Amino acid sequence: MDKRQLSPVPERSKEAVARQSQALASMRERLTLYMEEKSMRKTPERYEILRVAGLANGIFTIEGLMKLMDEHAGFQVSRATLFNTMELFCEAGLVIKHSLATAAHYELRTDSNPKAYTICRQCNTITRVPTSTARLALQNLHVRYFSTEDKLVYIHGLCRKCQAKNRQEARKLKKTIKQDKNKNDKR
Ligand SMILES: [Zn+2]
Repeated sequence: MDKRQLSPVPERSKEAVARQSQALASMRERLTLYMEEKSMRKTPERYEILRVAGLANGIFTIEGLMKLMDEHAGFQVSRATLFNTMELFCEAGLVIKHSLATAAHYELRTDSNPKAYTICRQCNTITRVPTSTARLALQNLHVRYFSTEDKLVYIHGLCRKCQAKNRQEARKLKKTIKQDKNKNDKR
């Protein structure tokens, strides 16, 4: 798994931090409203999980969130609690769930803009594409008789690291074949 998904990124501009805390504050409000609507108990755990998920600064797995909770939360929670809370957040519209073939990945829904992601078929790393291209392309896409909630594009392929790794392995293999050939020729 990509380490960047696990630990918070400390270097962010002041505006980005302000935007993020503003988004988190409004998400807290939405969570409160949702729980009141559904007559659920407003447990401090749920708010704390939302706060810590905000520290992930992007896409995270239950595994990754578990680690962040260990580092940053005032208490420990079980994997089942995190999983159930993410389901609750999804229903409340606070979280985007990426149902991938590997583990489910989550992301706080801080805005409703269309988003694009790359998914590496080798190491399964999912990365948000930092571009407005997806937004421009999908802004005007409307499907009739369908109530669209998220516009997400997944671009499948090979990440940079895996490309480099494969090239290196191909070179090694070529070298081995050459050495074997030389040995055979000498016989
Ligand atoms: Zn990869």
